[in-house]
Amino acid sequence: MSRILIVEDEPAILLGLSGQLRREGYEVTTAITGDDGLSSAQTNPPDLIVLDLMLPGLSGYEICRTLRSQGRQMPILMLTARGEETDRVLGLDIGADDYLTKPFSLRELLARIRALLRRTQSNDKLQIGDVEIDFAAYTATRAGRPIEISRRELLLLRALTAKPNRVLSRDELLDSVVGEDVYVSNRVIDNYIVTLRAKLPEGHLVTIRGAGYKWIP
Ligand code: CA
Repeated sequence: MSRILIVEDEPAILLGLSGQLRREGYEVTTAITGDDGLSSAQTNPPDLIVLDLMLPGLSGYEICRTLRSQGRQMPILMLTARGEETDRVLGLDIGADDYLTKPFSLRELLARIRALLRRTQSNDKLQIGDVEIDFAAYTATRAGRPIEISRRELLLLRALTAKPNRVLSRDELLDSVVGEDVYVSNRVIDNYIVTLRAKLPEGHLVTIRGAGYKWIP
């Protein structure tokens, strides 16, 4: 499950946001000062940060700039107050990925969060029901518990999920999984599909008879 850090000094907003995000199934940590927010993001990096611009101590800008200068790439959604037009632009300049102006609707915020997480998850992390895949670390968990998954199963999954709703032939998949120069029967793909499917929630990995396989998100 994705972890979100909210850095916000207005108690009502903080409470409303954290409650709503937890109800949506996110794991939420909070900070009410800039300094606490930065140290939390550094010591226990979240998957996404909802960052207020004006904070006691370090500002949202400074936090954003510091994290980016340290090479931390988690998506940052900046919250700004009405009338901070130039600030908004600056917010994007310093490496925030998106912003919302207060007051905003929770629905809008949730949509933005989902979009941002999808963007990063398509790179390194993937959430499929209660299964979480980390392609960078070659690890997978189901309901928070580690599951065994081989490198080739991960490569296969990555190839499929990179092109959702498209039929991929065994030969295409084979190239991604064992490499183009290796000669093996493309039927090995069927074996990987079977073992992979057993580890994932049902209904995503679909067989298209005579053609190949398809990933349905
Ligand atoms: Ca504030």
